[in-house]
Amino acid sequence: MYRLALLSVHGCPMAPLGERDTGGMNVYLLQIARELGRCGHKVDVFTRHHEPGDPQVIDLGDNARVVHLKAGPYFETKGSLHQYIREFLGNLYLFQQSEGTTYDVVHSHYWLSGWAGTELSIRWNVPHVATFHTLARRKIEARAEESESQLRIHTESRVMRSVDAIVVSTEQEKQDLSRLYQVSTHKVCVIPAGVDLKLFRPLDKAWARQSLGLMGKRVVLSVGRVEPLKGLDIAIRAMAGLEDARDTRLIIVGGNPGRDSELRRLKSMSAQMGLHNRITFAGAMDQSNLPTYYNAADVFVLPSYYESFGLVALEAMACGVPVIASRVGGPETLVSEGKTGYLIASRAPEPYAQALNFLLANPTLRGTFGRAAIAKARTMGWDRVANRILALYSAMLEQTWKIAVGT
Ligand code: UDP
Repeated sequence: MYRLALLSVHGCPMAPLGERDTGGMNVYLLQIARELGRCGHKVDVFTRHHEPGDPQVIDLGDNARVVHLKAGPYFETKGSLHQYIREFLGNLYLFQQSEGTTYDVVHSHYWLSGWAGTELSIRWNVPHVATFHTLARRKIEARAEESESQLRIHTESRVMRSVDAIVVSTEQEKQDLSRLYQVSTHKVCVIPAGVDLKLFRPLDKAWARQSLGLMGKRVVLSVGRVEPLKGLDIAIRAMAGLEDARDTRLIIVGGNPGRDSELRRLKSMSAQMGLHNRITFAGAMDQSNLPTYYNAADVFVLPSYYESFGLVALEAMACGVPVIASRVGGPETLVSEGKTGYLIASRAPEPYAQALNFLLANPTLRGTFGRAAIAKARTMGWDRVANRILALYSAMLEQTWKIAVGT
C-alpha cells in the first residue's frame, strides 16, 4: 500500500465543471484519486480552499480524500495563485504534522503544483511525478494571441528538469516536451487519459432528444470550457455552410456568460450571422447531465487549436457519437479517420461544414462510426489509466525507473 500525495493547487476535483478554469484536469484528478484508492492505496489530493464553507477534508470513499488548504483569498484568479504557493506548502506541512502521516510519492498536476511538488519531494525525499496537462509554449505556438507569463514558462522548465518522471497523454505531447523544453524523452511516460464508462454509455436517442426538446432536429454538439483556444467560432461559422440548416441545431454546452468573455463574443457573433435560432448556448452543466446531451447528438464537434487530450471527444465516443475534430494532439489519437469520425487540419470552417454535411446526410454511416467509437472507448476506462500510473510509481519506488532513465 502506498501513501500518495496528489497536488492540484488550483484545480479542485470537487469544483463545478465547465467554467473558465474547471474541466479536464479536475475530472482527471477525481477519477484517478478514486481508482488509485480502490486499488488499496491511500490518496490525498491537496488543493486550495476556493469556496467558503467547504470542509477542510472531503472523503471521496475508497481510501481517497480531498484536502483543502488555505492559500490566498477564496476567489483569487488563477493568474495570481503563484503568490500563495508558500502559504499552500506551509499549510500542507501543518496538516501533515497534525495527522502524523508520511507519503511515498508526490504527483503534481499543472505547473503551479509542479512548483510546490519540487519542494515537497526534496523535503520528504520521495519521487516526484508531474503531469502538466497543458504547456505554455505549446499554447502560444497553437494560437499566437495566447499570452502566458515568463514565470510559467520558466517554472515549467525548472520543474521538468527536477522531476523524476513526467506523465503525458499522447506521444505528441512527449515530442512537444523534447522540442519545446529540451526534456529527455526517457523521463516521459505516455499514459492516455480515460473515460467514465458507467456514466458515458449509449442511451435511447429518441428519449434523449425528447428530454432536451430536440425532436425532429439534427443535432451537432460541443461540450467544454469556453475559451478562444477551443476554436468554437469555427463550429459556429461551419453552421452557416450547412445544407438543410433549418432543422439543424448546434448545442454548445459549457461556459458562464457572466464570467466568460469568449462566450459573450460567440453569442454576439452568432446573432450577427443570423444563426441565433440554430445555436443554443446551454451553459455549464453538471457531468451527470451530459450523457443526455451526448446521446441526443448526431455528431460531436471539437475544433480546438490545442487539445492535450480532449476528454469530451472520448465521452462522445463512449456514447456512440461520431466526432469531427481538429487534427491536434489528443483527438488525433482518439478519432480514427473515416472510421469513428474525421480529423480536420485546416482552421477554416468549410472543411468542418463539408464533414458535417456528409455525416448528417448519412445515418447508416453514423451508426457504423458510432459502434466503432464505442468499441474504442470501452478500452479506455479510468481503471486502466490508474493501473499504468501505479506501475510507474512502483518502478520509481523500486528504483527500476531511475535505472531506465539513466539518472
Ligand atoms: N464538462 C462538464 N460540464 C461542462 C463542460 C465540461 O462536466 O459544462 C467536463 C467534460 O465532461 C470533460 C471535462 O469537463 O470531462 C473537459 O475536459 P477536456 O479534456 O475535454 O477539456 P479541458 O477542460 O481539459 O480543456
